[in-house]
Formats: sequence, structure tokens, C-alpha cells
Amino acid sequence: MAPKFPVYYEHIHTCKQTGARLGRVHTPHGSFMTPVFMPVGTAASVKGMSPEEVSEMGAGIILSNTYHLWLRPGSEIIAGAGGLHKFMNWPGAVLTDSGGFQVFSLAKPKNITEDGVLFNSHIDGAKKFLTPELSMKIQNDLGADIIMAFDECCPYPAKYEYADKSLEMTTRWLARCIEAHQKPDTQALFGIIQGSMYKDLRQKSAEQITSFDLPGFAIGGLSVGEPKDLFCEMLAHTVPYMPEDKPRYLMGVGTPDYLIEGVLAGIDMFDCVLPSRMGRHGTILTSTGRKIIRDKKYADCYLPPDPECDCYCCRNYTSSYVRHLLKANEMFGLRLCTYHNIYFLLKLMERIREAVAEDRLADFAKDFQEKFYNS
Ligand SMILES: [Zn+2]
Repeated sequence: MAPKFPVYYEHIHTCKQTGARLGRVHTPHGSFMTPVFMPVGTAASVKGMSPEEVSEMGAGIILSNTYHLWLRPGSEIIAGAGGLHKFMNWPGAVLTDSGGFQVFSLAKPKNITEDGVLFNSHIDGAKKFLTPELSMKIQNDLGADIIMAFDECCPYPAKYEYADKSLEMTTRWLARCIEAHQKPDTQALFGIIQGSMYKDLRQKSAEQITSFDLPGFAIGGLSVGEPKDLFCEMLAHTVPYMPEDKPRYLMGVGTPDYLIEGVLAGIDMFDCVLPSRMGRHGTILTSTGRKIIRDKKYADCYLPPDPECDCYCCRNYTSSYVRHLLKANEMFGLRLCTYHNIYFLLKLMERIREAVAEDRLADFAKDFQEKFYNS
């Protein structure tokens, strides 16, 4: 039987030790193993990296931001190029967000109504109005394999009444997104569960959102500044309401410990700007924790930035050299740090998938956390 949706989940194994999932997501631009980390290419580029480099690191899917591409260069320009894949020469899968998160976080909305959100562009201050219908139109122009519903990412902390009203509006916006989506045969629309930090609201939103027959579902509004135990509590409470036969995506999560918590809770997909942003600030992730490679103490350290890593950067260069490049403001230094960080998270996910396949994810999680946080 032909798959019902252009993007679908194939389950491979459930970890007997933890219940975490190993699977494969199929898209019109290839398939990738899950749990997966998706590098972020905000403005149709993973900052500093060529698509060939991102591909050789093993990434099968990247994320791009609707908000940024809408404001610059404009979605018509990208549609004219034949869509985002062709525009940026990326052969793999692409996911675009709805623009909602950036409108709420970057552009500081002037007015949120049932109709949509009024805000000022962060580029030139121009007044803009984004609606569920317009977000779908832009994402149809961009042509990503997975597109996201326009939702309100509830600020943290939020009052119960606000969170309740907000999630109800997100559900009504999802119905409008489904109605406006022009390419359901080639682009998979995912719904987003909200509900802030209230268990009953998370349940209510999950039940409402998953009642729509969509190819996948996401959890939004977590990892927005709340304490980690609250994050874990909300996550554990929400995932059981999500269908088992569709991909589950936890939005905006990418620190090693949160990725592991997400997989343990049954999540398949993650994205975060952290590895590239940290890289550009001269900080790298290693198996023994974060390392500020700009620090003076690495001036004469002739070991690789992460001696346990086999990435292009760590195989060929020393901490001393990378630090020198950063201090001299050489672009190559930022590129090396970014390369390593993205590789590190992709490799971490690969090791997580191996642990799930071999029913030992709890052991792996314990060993990794001890080494990462106590070294
Ligand atoms: Zn490395």
C-alpha cells in the first residue's frame, strides 16, 4: 500500500531498557535514521558550512527558518529558484518552521489577535502581519519536505488562563493551516502541541492537536527557560498522547543532556542553533564537557580540540592552532569550531541510536552524563 503522507515513520526497534525508539523517517528527499539531530540553517545556510560539509558529517535533514527567508530574500525568489533545496544546493531533507517562534522571540509582536500577529521586522523595522494562511503560503513557496503549523509559543512563565486561551487559539490556527496548505502530496504538515507548564493543558493540547490526521507532531513551548525537572516532567507527560506510528519532534532542543532526556521520553527529532552559535563564540562540546577553546590555557595545547573526536577538525588541527585562529579573527577558526560542534551532536545521536538498538540506552545515558558533567 502506498504511504498516505509524503513523510512517514518506519519503526525499527524499541529499547528494552528504556522504551526509547529507533526508526527511520522517509521524505521526498531521502530518509534518515531517528532519533536525529537537525542542524539549523537559518537563512538557507548552516552558518559557515557548505552543504557538502554538512552532508559529509552525516546530516540527512536540516532546518531552515521561514521568518528569516520571508523577510530576506522573500519566498517568491526562492520559489523562482525551484524551492529551497535547489536554491541552496542541498540534496537531503529540509524542515521549515512556521515563523511563529521568531516573530514572538525576535520581532517582539505588537499585537496578537485571532487573525494573526502584527510585528516589526528585525531587519528594517517595517510593519508585518503574519497569519496561519501566510505562513503556509511562504512554506509552500519554500518547498521543504516537512513544514510546521503556525502556533503561539507561549512565553515562560505564563498564567494558566493565558496558556489555556493560547493553546486553544493554536488549535484553531492549525485548522486554518490545514485548510490553507496547498501541497499536502509533497510537503508534510506537522501540528504543534503547546500548553505551557501545566499538565492538564499539555494533555488538552495534545488531544486536540493529534485529533487532526497529520503526518507528524511536535512539542513546542518547552526548553524556554524553565528548570530541567519541570521540562522533563512536561515532556514525560505529553509524549504518551502522541501517536506511535508518526514522527515526534521536540522543537528547539539541542544540549547533550536535553537530547538524551528527549530520546528517553520517546522523541525522534530535535533541532537547535546551539552547536553553530557556540562554535562562532569559540566554545566547543567535547565528551568531557564544554571547552572554551579561546582560553589562554589552550595557547600551547597541541592536542586536538577533542582528543576523542574523529571529525575533520580534530583529526587535523590542535587546540593551540584553533585558539590562535579565533584570537586572530580568522574565519577558518569559527568554521572549525562549528564543524566540530555539529559533528559532535550528529555523532552523539549515532551513539544513542546504537545504544537503543542494543537495549542499553540507560547505561549509555548514565555513562555519558557522568563524563560530560563531572570531568
Ligand atoms: Zn571534532
